[in-house]
Amino acid sequence: MSLRLWFRSPRYLLTLFLSIMLVLAASFGWLSWRLLRQDRALESQRSQERLDNAADLIAASLLHKFSESRDQLTSLLALSDSDLDARAVELAGQSGGTALIVVFRPQAVDAYPRAGLLYYPFLATTQEAPAIMFEAGEVAEFQQKDLAKAVAVFRELSHSSDPAIRAGALVRLGRNLRKAQQPRAALDIYDQLDHLAATSVGGLPAELLARHARCTLLEELKRTKEVKREAGLLYSDLHNGRWKLARGAYRFYAQETNRWYTPAPELQAHQQDAVSTATAVELLWEAWQRIRRGEDTAAGHRSVWILGRPVLLVWQTSSDRLVALVAGEPYLQQQWLSVLRPLMDRQSVRLALTDAEGHPVLPQFSATSAQQATRSSAETQLPWTMRVVSRDPLVELTQERNRRHLLLLAFISLFAFVSVGSYFIARAVTRELEVARLQSDFVSAVSHEFRTPLASLCQLSEMLTDGRVPNEMRRQEYYEGLHRASERLNRLVGSLLDFGRMQAGAQPYRFELLETESFFKGVVEDFAQEALERGYQVVIAQQPHLPPVHADREALARALRNLLDNAVKYSPQNKTVWAKATTENGRVAISVSDKGLGIAPDEQRRIFKKFVRAASADAAGARGTGLGLTMVEHIVAAHGGQVWVDSELGIGSTFTILLPRAKE
Ligand code: ADP
Repeated sequence: MSLRLWFRSPRYLLTLFLSIMLVLAASFGWLSWRLLRQDRALESQRSQERLDNAADLIAASLLHKFSESRDQLTSLLALSDSDLDARAVELAGQSGGTALIVVFRPQAVDAYPRAGLLYYPFLATTQEAPAIMFEAGEVAEFQQKDLAKAVAVFRELSHSSDPAIRAGALVRLGRNLRKAQQPRAALDIYDQLDHLAATSVGGLPAELLARHARCTLLEELKRTKEVKREAGLLYSDLHNGRWKLARGAYRFYAQETNRWYTPAPELQAHQQDAVSTATAVELLWEAWQRIRRGEDTAAGHRSVWILGRPVLLVWQTSSDRLVALVAGEPYLQQQWLSVLRPLMDRQSVRLALTDAEGHPVLPQFSATSAQQATRSSAETQLPWTMRVVSRDPLVELTQERNRRHLLLLAFISLFAFVSVGSYFIARAVTRELEVARLQSDFVSAVSHEFRTPLASLCQLSEMLTDGRVPNEMRRQEYYEGLHRASERLNRLVGSLLDFGRMQAGAQPYRFELLETESFFKGVVEDFAQEALERGYQVVIAQQPHLPPVHADREALARALRNLLDNAVKYSPQNKTVWAKATTENGRVAISVSDKGLGIAPDEQRRIFKKFVRAASADAAGARGTGLGLTMVEHIVAAHGGQVWVDSELGIGSTFTILLPRAKE
C-alpha cells in the first residue's frame, strides 16, 4: 500500500486515535501524579504549620502557668508567718492535693499540706532532758548490769513533772523491763510513753518510739493480730505527716513497719510518689543553701527525675525565705494540661514533654507520624523539651489515600471514556470509508454494465445507418442485437430503479395466493430459454404437490431470476445450473445451485449487503453491481421467509429461499 493510501486507511485512523488516546492518558496520568505530589507536599506543609502553631500556643500557655505560679509564690513571700500559713494551705488545697508548697526559713522547714512531706531536709533541734539526768540509771543498766536498780531509778524519774524527763525515763524504763523479761510491764510503760505524743527523745517523737516498741513487744509475745493492727496505724501515721522526721528516721521506721504490715499496691505507689517529692525537697534545700551563698538563681523552675518520676520545682526567694511549689505528674496533668486540653483537641495534637536528661515527663506516644514540632527548653524557657505531634496521623493518611483513590478513579473513568469514544469514532470512520469505497466500486461497476450494451447499440446502429450491412439476414441479426442490447439496458435501469424504490420503502407488494408449482416452472423455464442462448442448461427438479404461497408474483419472480442469473454469471466453466423446489417442514424451499466459483466462508453473510461483491467474482472478472442479493433478501423478508447460501470456494454454491406456505 502506498504511503498516501495508508494515511487514508482506517487502520491509520485507528492508530492515530489510539496514539492520541495514549498521549492523553499519559499526560493525564502525569498531571495526576504531579497533582498528588503537590497535594501531599501542601498537606504536609499545612499540617507542619498547624503543629508549629499548636506548639507555640502550648508553650505560651505553659509559660503563663509558670508565671502564675511564680506570682502566687511571690505573694506568699510578702506575707507574715501566720498569714503565710493559712494562704499556703489554701494554695496547696487548690491543687487538689497534687502539689506541695514548701517554705524554708533558716531554722525551719514547713510543708503544706503537712501530710505531703514524708521527711524533712532540716529539723530544728528540740528541747530534751539533759543526759546527765539518766546517768545513774544507765550506770546500773550498762556497767553494773543491775536491771532491778535501773528500773527503780527510771521509774522514779518517770514521775517527773517535766515531760521531757518523763519521756526519756519511760523510754529507758521500757527498755530495761524488756531486758528483765517483763514484756507486759514494758507494754504498760510504752502506753504511758505514747501519751507524751511529740515530746522528743533523742530527736524522735515519744509517740513514734512508743508505738514502734509496742509492735516489737507484741511480735515477741506472738500477738500477731495486734502487731498487724498497730503496724497498720503506725504506717498510716508515718505517711500522713504526723511527725516531722529526718530522712534516716523515716527510712528506718518505714522499713520496720513493712516487716509487719504490707500496704495495698496503690498505697505503695503513693508512698513512692511521696518519697520522690521528699527527695526533691531535699534537693531544693541544697539549692537554697547555694542561693543563700549567691551561687544559684533566686527564682526559677526545674524539672527533676527522681525514682522514675518527674518532679516539677518552682521557687521564689526573699532574703530569709524560700517558697516553692513541688509537684509531680498528676499536678501537671490535672492543673496545667487540663487547661491546654481544649486547645490540643481543637488543633488535634498530642504533647510530649521530656526533661533536660531526656526523661519522659508526660507519657510518651508511639511515633506514628514523622511530622512533629519540637521546641527545646532554650527556645521556650520551659524546663522541658516539647514535642507536638498530630493526634490522628491515621486519619490524615486515610484522607490522603481517599484523595488518591478518587483521582485514580477519575483517571480510569477518563481513560475508559477516551477509549470507548475513540473506538466508536474509529468504527464510524472505518464504516464511512468502507461505504465510500463500495460506492465508488459500484459506480465503476454500473458504468461498465452500461458501457457494454451502449457500445453494441452504437456500433450496430452505425453500421445499419451507413448501409454497411451486406445482406438481409445479417441486417436481421443486427436488429436482434440492437433489441438485446436495449433489453439489457432496460433490465439494468429497471433493477436500479427497483433498488432505489426498495431503499426508499416505496416498493408496494401486491400479495396473492400463488400456485408454487406453476409459478416456479414458469419463471425457471423462461430463464432456461434465455440461458440456452448463452450456452447454459438449467436442470429443473420439482417435488409434486407443493403447497401454495402467499406472494407478490412479480417480486418473487425477480428474486428467483436474480439467483438464476447469478448462478449462470458466476459459473463460467460449468455450464449447467440446477433449480429445485421442495417442501421443508411444511414450508416451500426454492434453491438454485451451480458448480461455479463459490464464495469464501467469511464472505457468505456479507454478500447480502448492498454493494458488496465477493473476491472470487472480482478475481474472475465477472461484472455486477452488488445490489441483486440485497434485493433478494429484502423481497424474501417481506414474504416472511429467509434466504441463505451454502457455498464452497471453487466448488459451487446453492442459494435457498424458504417461504412460509399460504394459509388456506
Ligand atoms: P452482482 O451479481 O451484481 O455483483 P449480487 O448482489 O447479485 O450482485 O451478488 C453479490 C455477490 O455475490 C456477487 O458479486 C458475487 O461475488 C456473489 N455471488 C452471488 N451469486 C453467486 C454465485 N452463484 N456464485 C458465486 N458468487 C456469487
